Amino acid sequence: MPRGRILVVDDSAPVRAAVAETLRQAGDLEEVLEAEDGLVALRLMAEERPDLVVCDLVMPGCDGIQLLRLRAAKPELASIPVLILTADTELDRKVELFDRGASDYVCKPFDPRELVARVRVHLRLKLMAEDLAAANEKLYRLSCTDPLTELFNRRHFNNVLDVEVARLQRYGIPLALILADVDHFKRVNDEHGHLVGDEVLRSVAVTLGRSVRKADVVARYGGEEIAIVLTNTGTAGAFVLAERLRAAVETTPVQAGERTVRCTASFGVAAADTNADVTDAATLVSRADCALYAAKRDGRNRVVMWAPELEPLAPEPGA
Ligand code: GH3
Ligand code: MG
Ligand code: MG
Repeated sequence: MPRGRILVVDDSAPVRAAVAETLRQAGDLEEVLEAEDGLVALRLMAEERPDLVVCDLVMPGCDGIQLLRLRAAKPELASIPVLILTADTELDRKVELFDRGASDYVCKPFDPRELVARVRVHLRLKLMAEDLAAANEKLYRLSCTDPLTELFNRRHFNNVLDVEVARLQRYGIPLALILADVDHFKRVNDEHGHLVGDEVLRSVAVTLGRSVRKADVVARYGGEEIAIVLTNTGTAGAFVLAERLRAAVETTPVQAGERTVRCTASFGVAAADTNADVTDAATLVSRADCALYAAKRDGRNRVVMWAPELEPLAPEPGA
């Protein structure tokens, strides 16, 4: 028997005990819970999250059909399979049980071997579904993550920015975007090699990540460029944060093997304080980019806020 916790629901204490004992004898169940009617069972399903429910069909109060009906209104309980024990041999009744979401049924009086065999099947299916959900969750996380820095990747950044611009538009919740670019990063690679360069990028990512609020999204935008989406933050707050990030990068030396590497970064900031300021994500990105180029032009290791007079984006002298 796969390991699992089973809830046995029956108004008759002797039948509950017989079912529980049959299941216990079958193998290494973690726990058998018991309930005397459907309402108690639903509460235990919500609180204890058993892996499977074996439920009597006919009970005074909340019976098996009602349990299935009430469970259907609670999506969080849908993954717990329910196996109905029934003395009813009518085909229509059996079909109704499946229609209402039962995973299986066993006729009473039950043969212990059949009950155990069916419980095994549904426990196995439940565990497989859980493994699949965990694998999907892991794949989803990977699809959002940059492998080098473990920050969010560009795909996730795009999604988040679209959602936040929609919230700005609909609810007027302020939004700011910071684009950070490591200064003279090519030199770091040239002087110390790409592996040290990678270490510097990872370290800058950590420094930025730990300096923002939990709701803010830090993502690798491109090579040595990092984007930070600041939710519910307007111009003034974004400037203060960007300045704090700039200082944090400047004052955090990177230890890469034997070497200690110091670096700085430049920051371009664009903010929308009201929904009249920015109507689409592309505008916010191009404004932050424009401000970042101005920060580079003005000497690097600085924060520049986007302002209309910065437009249009001009190439850097000598570039
Ligand atoms: P600036 O101050 O103008 O930004 O100068 P810069 O040298 O940082 O800018 P440039 O765009 O000329 O060079 C960026 C460098 O970043 C070049 C590229 O090889 C390096 N780079 C991009 N991604 C990675 C990476 O994942 N690892 C390492 N080690 N280097 C990277
Ligand atoms: Mg750079
Ligand atoms: Mg760059």
